[in-house]
Amino acid sequence: MRPMTLLLTLLAVAAPALAAPSFDGRSWWHTVQVLADDRYEGRETGSRGERGAQDYLVGRLKALHVRPAGTHGYFQPVELRSRELDEAASSVALVRGGDALPLVIGDDLVLSTRVELAPDVDAPLVFVGYGLRVPELNHDDYAGLDLKGKIAVVFQGSPAAMPSALAAHYQSQAERWKTLRAVGAIGILMIPNPAAMDIPWSRIALNRSHPSMVLADPAFDETAGGRFGGTFNPAQADKLFAGTGHDFAELAKAGAERGPLPTFALPLALRAHTRLVTRAVHSRNVVAVVPGRDRALAREYVVLTAHLDHLGVGQPINGDRINNGAMDNASGSALLLDLARTLDSSSQRPRRSVLFVWVTAEEKGLLGSRYFANHPTVPGPQLVANINTDMFLPIVPLKVATVYGLAESDLGDLAAAAAARLGIRVQADPEPLRNLFIRSDQYNFIKQGVPSLAMRVGFDAGTPEEKLFKDWLTARYHAPSDDTLQPVDLAAAGAFEELTRQLTLDVANAPVRPRWKPDSFFRRYAPAP
Ligand SMILES: [Zn+2]
Repeated sequence: MRPMTLLLTLLAVAAPALAAPSFDGRSWWHTVQVLADDRYEGRETGSRGERGAQDYLVGRLKALHVRPAGTHGYFQPVELRSRELDEAASSVALVRGGDALPLVIGDDLVLSTRVELAPDVDAPLVFVGYGLRVPELNHDDYAGLDLKGKIAVVFQGSPAAMPSALAAHYQSQAERWKTLRAVGAIGILMIPNPAAMDIPWSRIALNRSHPSMVLADPAFDETAGGRFGGTFNPAQADKLFAGTGHDFAELAKAGAERGPLPTFALPLALRAHTRLVTRAVHSRNVVAVVPGRDRALAREYVVLTAHLDHLGVGQPINGDRINNGAMDNASGSALLLDLARTLDSSSQRPRRSVLFVWVTAEEKGLLGSRYFANHPTVPGPQLVANINTDMFLPIVPLKVATVYGLAESDLGDLAAAAAARLGIRVQADPEPLRNLFIRSDQYNFIKQGVPSLAMRVGFDAGTPEEKLFKDWLTARYHAPSDDTLQPVDLAAAGAFEELTRQLTLDVANAPVRPRWKPDSFFRRYAPAP
C-alpha cells in the first residue's frame, strides 16, 4: 500500500487534475435555467424570490450530501437596511446667483441612496477632475481647492499614468469617502465617463427605482458623514459647466483619453430636498464545505464565491419586468454547485478544504461578501485564497480567459498554468477603466489580505467577439433580457467550469498557500508575515 499511496500523493501534487470529469455545460445550464426562472422574480436581496432560490440551492446541496458550513446549517444570516428615495417628496435644483434651475430626477441626475441623504442640502459645487488623491504617486486632485461643506463633482475615470490597480482602489466607495471626509466635503456628484459606461443613461435612470441597501451594523458604513450623493447624466452635464470657460465635450474628450483634467470651483450650488424611506431587510449567505483529505491542510480553506442575488423586479423593458440575471449571476452560482458536486466525490477530494459561499447583496454593493469576509464561518487566518465567479459570460468559445488579478499573486500563475494545460490563453484585464477587479465580491477578501482572483471568458481586441461582448453589455447587462432565452455556448461554459475546477484543485493541493507578489499593490492588506 505504501508505494501506491506515495505515488498517489505525488500525482496529487504534480498533476492533480488528471482525472477530469468532462463538463459539457448541460448540468450548468440546467441549474441556470432554474435559478433564472421567473418564479424567483430576479432574486432581489431579501426577497421571497431570493429566499426561494437559496432554498433550492440548499436542497441540491443536501441531495448531493455536501456539508453545511454556515452558522445556521447552510445559512449565515445577513442583516441589512434598505433605503429608498420617495421621489415625489424630493427635489433638486442648481442655484446660480439667486436663480434656481430645477433638475429632473431621472433625466438630469439620479440620487444615490448609498449615501444617507440629508433631508436638506444647499452646498457649493467644486469640479475635482477624477477626484483622486493617491499618495503613492503624489497625485492630488484636491490640491489648492476648498471643499469644506461643499459637494465634489467627479468625472469617473483615472489618468493614464496611474496603474489600474491603484486607480481602481482609490475609486472604491470606501477610499473615495475617506478622501471626501479628509477634505471636509459633504457629498459627491459623479459624472460617468461616456467612454467607459457599462450601460446607457436610459438604463441608469430606470434602475434608480431599485432600493439601495447597507449592512445594518453601522461599523460597516463607508459613507459615514456624507449628506449627498448623486450621478449626473453626461448628456446634461453642460448645465454644470456653463459660465466656467469649460464645456463638457472638452472634459469628456480629455477623460476618454485618460488625459489630465482641470479642477475648479463651479459658480453653482446644489439644493436638494429629499425624503428617504428605510426598512430592515433580512437575507442570508449560503455556505457549504468539501472537507480536505490532508489532516493538517484540511484546516485551511480555498473559498469559492458567487453571488446569487440579482436586481429583482424593475421597470418594464419591452414588456418584461423581471431581471432574471441568468448570466449575472445564476451562471456563477450554477458553476459553484457543479464544482461542489465533483470535488466532493472521494477520488477528487483535495488536500485543503474548499468552502463554497453563495453570497447575497452583491448588487447592493458587495454586502454579503463583505459581511462574510469580516465574519467568516471558519477562522479568518485559515482562508488561503478566494476565487470568485461573477458573470463569466460563456457567449463565445473559450479561447482566451480574462484573469482579474493575474499579476497580483501566485493564484495568477496557477491560473495561467491550468489554462495552458487546457489550451486556453490568459490575459490580464483588457478594460482597466471599468475597475472590474474591485467591482465584485473578491474585493472584500482582498481587503482581508486573502489572495484573490476572478476569471471570465475573454476576447481579443478588435475581433467580432469584442463586439459581441460590448453588445451584450449594452443590450442585456442589468436588463430583463439577461434571461434564459439568450444564446449561450455550452461548450465554453463546460470548459470554463473545468478551468475553474483545475485551478481550485491546484490551489487546494499546493504544498504552500498562495501569496501576493512582492510588488503587488494589494499586498498592503496582507497581515505581516
Ligand atoms: Zn450585476
